[in-house]
Amino acid sequence: MRRIKLPKCRREYQGYVIDTSKAYYIFIDKTLTYDPAIDTLIEEWAHTIAGFKGGTENELEDHGAAWGRAVSKVKQAYLKF
Ligand SMILES: [Zn+2]
Repeated sequence: MRRIKLPKCRREYQGYVIDTSKAYYIFIDKTLTYDPAIDTLIEEWAHTIAGFKGGTENELEDHGAAWGRAVSKVKQAYLKF
């Protein structure tokens, strides 16, 4: 995991994911300490599992039931790690 300085247009977020159709790229704000960075990584990773399609910019649609189930799975896997 490498944390970066987020571009101005994304600074309201702690992280975000981009789908290039070949790979997902997850970006995490470098000002976050380790634990919040891991939480953000788990959240963004869950978007890829839940079928991320570029994001709708709608908090409720982007963080629905499928995303919630994916967060749970990723978090459980992380805690076992
Ligand atoms: Zn999210």
